[in-house]
Amino acid sequence: MASKEEKRRRAALAEAMVAEDTKKAIENMPLSLAELGELFDHLDETLEQEGCDHSPRITQLFLSQKGLDPDQVLPWLKEQGGYCDCEILANVEEGWESEIGKNT
Ligand SMILES: [Zn+2]
Repeated sequence: MASKEEKRRRAALAEAMVAEDTKKAIENMPLSLAELGELFDHLDETLEQEGCDHSPRITQLFLSQKGLDPDQVLPWLKEQGGYCDCEILANVEEGWESEIGKNT
C-alpha cells in the first residue's frame, strides 16, 4: 500500500506533468494567449450580433486583421473541435480560458 508520503509525491508528479503538457501546448500555439483571448472576445461580440454561418469567417477575418496566418491557426482550432466561429468559441475557449486568465 502506498504511504501518505508516496501518494503526495505521486500527486505532485502528476501535477507537474500536466503543467509541463500545458506549457508545451502553449509553446506550440500558432498565436499568443493574449491574441487567443482577444479572438474569443471578438467572437463573443460578433456572434451575438451576426450569428454563426457555420464557417470560421469571423475568425479568419480577425486573424488577417491581426497579421496572423489563418492557414496556421484555423487547422489548430479544428484540432480542438473548432470548425466554425460558434464552435471555436464553444469548444476551444473551454480548453484555454483558465490559461488565459492565469497569463494575461
Ligand atoms: Zn457555428
